Amino acid sequence: MTEKLFYEDSHMITFSAIVEACVKRGEYYEAVLNRTAFFPEGGGQYADTGVIGGESVLDVQEREGIIYHKMKTPLEAGQTVEGAIDWEERFSKMQQHSGEHIVSGLVNAMYGYDNVGFHMGRDAITMDFSGVLSKEQLKEIEQKANEAVVKNLDIEVLYPSKEELTDMAYRSKIEIEGQVRIVRVPGYDTCACCAPHVKKTGEIGLIKLIGVQNYKGGVRVSMLCGFRAIADYEEKAESVKRISVMLSAKEAEVAEEVLKLKEEIASQKGKLIEMQRTLLKYKVNEIPENQDLVILFESGLEGSEPRELMNLVLEKKAEVAAVFAGNDDKGYRYVMGSKTRDMRPFAKTLNELFQGRGGGKPEMVQGSLCGEEEKIREAVKACKEKAF
Ligand SMILES: [Zn+2]
Repeated sequence: MTEKLFYEDSHMITFSAIVEACVKRGEYYEAVLNRTAFFPEGGGQYADTGVIGGESVLDVQEREGIIYHKMKTPLEAGQTVEGAIDWEERFSKMQQHSGEHIVSGLVNAMYGYDNVGFHMGRDAITMDFSGVLSKEQLKEIEQKANEAVVKNLDIEVLYPSKEELTDMAYRSKIEIEGQVRIVRVPGYDTCACCAPHVKKTGEIGLIKLIGVQNYKGGVRVSMLCGFRAIADYEEKAESVKRISVMLSAKEAEVAEEVLKLKEEIASQKGKLIEMQRTLLKYKVNEIPENQDLVILFESGLEGSEPRELMNLVLEKKAEVAAVFAGNDDKGYRYVMGSKTRDMRPFAKTLNELFQGRGGGKPEMVQGSLCGEEEKIREAVKACKEKAF
């Protein structure tokens, strides 16, 4: 069994140990020490990083009480080595994890829901609860959780006997065999947990719930604690500051201003569509009546506009009307119609010539294709000459 120094002192950064074994596994080595401050992956938390004997530790796993440190280069058995965990990283993880206990304890006490999933990534951590919580309820929980931080309570670690355990009310995600380790935040939470925690709640710093979504009949809540919450605040504040400068608006009023902008854009878009329609009507008026074939290329047409234009042309008694929306580079959408000719062979021919797709009814076809305007015009003319 490896002696677990992270249980003796969760704030131990450096330690010395004797290498008991080092075995090659694939292209890496697994070093076993008599004692270690490296916390292995487990309980929703990824493994500590750091160095042993000056070499990087890539991963840490525990199997049957023995802790294996994954290394690129081997350590010599029998040798005494110095180890150091990446403290910034570990402290951040403890801030998140201790914060999670307080929030989960509050949710359990106030609403009776269980934490049924916990994941700690390198950004936000997520907690899945077995019931639905509203944004208002989460706000209250966040407030109470931060009160626990301000109280700067001692976080206790207990190793109760079996008898003591039967009398103890505690949260637990799994059935645990052997000695149970209990982490208690007095007045807030008692939970079975194998991870290292901060010593006092004040070390957690800010507890910030940053998102909630419905998940498997309950909710998934994202949270940031301590320095991660500060980094997130900084990022968001910077973003609001930039928007406020761009809009020449006060920081507290940017959302209102963006809403106004969106409404303005929508109204401008409506005006633009109306103007485009008017413009098209003028263009169609220029076209003489009773033409054999009218081909129009318009770059700015959207939605149903190509079809509307084609109908206007047919109203001017053109035998065949072909409208192309787009350009040579990005390709064209086409709509072609006639009151006398079957348009389907037109579509078939154009599709074959210009890697197009589409079709339709005898009186109208539509689709898309790629090609040069001049060549497309020639092809449509050739179709018109042919008696399909
Ligand atoms: Zn825990």
